Amino acid sequence: MSTVQTVKGPVEAEELGVVLIHEHLRFRDEAVAAEWPDRYDEQAELDAALQAVDAAGSRGVQTIVDPTAMFGGRDVRFMARVSEQTGVRVVACTGIYSYDYLPHYFENRDVDVMAEHFVADLQSGVQGTDIKAAFLKCAADAAGVTEHVEKIHRAVARASVQTGAPIMAHSMPAVETGPRQVEIFAQEGVDLARVQIAHCGDTDDVSYIEGLIDRGVYVGLDRYGLEMFLPIDKRNATAAELLRRGHAERMMISQDYCATIDWFPPEAEQVFESQGAIRNWSMTLVFDEVIPALRDQGVLDDQAFHTIFVENPKRWLTA
Ligand SMILES: [Zn+2]
Repeated sequence: MSTVQTVKGPVEAEELGVVLIHEHLRFRDEAVAAEWPDRYDEQAELDAALQAVDAAGSRGVQTIVDPTAMFGGRDVRFMARVSEQTGVRVVACTGIYSYDYLPHYFENRDVDVMAEHFVADLQSGVQGTDIKAAFLKCAADAAGVTEHVEKIHRAVARASVQTGAPIMAHSMPAVETGPRQVEIFAQEGVDLARVQIAHCGDTDDVSYIEGLIDRGVYVGLDRYGLEMFLPIDKRNATAAELLRRGHAERMMISQDYCATIDWFPPEAEQVFESQGAIRNWSMTLVFDEVIPALRDQGVLDDQAFHTIFVENPKRWLTA
């Protein structure tokens, strides 16, 4: 029986239960937060995380996979507090969330040294704790797979090959980063069955998504509520078509919700909501709207639900 590392220690994979595969307990720039801590309200951040995770728990979620990496303000102690107080398991990652920028520290060290940092997080513990990361994270966005982004992808890939840890890669379907990301992982010898290409659900181009599935990777339909990328009904139509084509075993559904995020001033959330850029974005939207809609369309039965929310996360996390 294989185990999975959570922020409260290892658990049997069978115990993970219903999993939300892509949610952030908090998202902020660690450099800004370190330099100007008085601009952040830690208690409010904790309260928001507790509220979001409790709400998810009330819908039956037993485990949340939180892909907050470097530059997202990863903080495994914060995650452990939220997990402790809510009783919901939290799975943490290692890696670098950058669309291009790399600190000089990593710019002037090679790929294998970068990989060593990730391996240490997976095998020894994160941020001076004995909390181990369970998976690897990297990102490619509008700028595409730049030199720095490629370096991060190769380091993540080598750490995966060395440790067997799975990979989650933020992608941008609008500029079709996915195939190139998969190609890099394949070149490095990664088992593509351990790779998840996040944010595929930002497009309704089913053949693009199917092209990735054909490589053997998981696809994340994981940004429900972020209407600025694709509205919920189009996301559902894409999910329904993938289910009809028999791809349940490669689909991950989530919201990429951030209980708090410092990218915009606090008043922006209401503006986004009123302008329709986000709609009902939360850690429960999938349960409140998406699953009922897919059930109504006759494409999601109990078996498919179990595949997507229980079996796929477990299989991805454990090989
Ligand atoms: Zn995310």
